[in-house]
Amino acid sequence: MTEQEYQKALDKIKNGLATKVRIFAPADACPVCTTIEGVYEFDDVPELPPEGCSCLAGPTAMYAPVLDQFGP
Ligand SMILES: [Zn+2]
Repeated sequence: MTEQEYQKALDKIKNGLATKVRIFAPADACPVCTTIEGVYEFDDVPELPPEGCSCLAGPTAMYAPVLDQFGP
């Protein structure tokens, strides 16, 4: 994805129901993408694509929303 597409995806998550952002890296992602994988507060979320990313097919890490689970 391009930087602009990442920004758009992140904005969409922040404006939705999510309370946090997860960075997900696929199994074939480069070490940089794998290292930043995890759950972040909106204020702490690293920018994608990460600096030094060496994924063969371009940056593959993704933003994903983290939704609070409410009881049944
Ligand atoms: Zn990468």
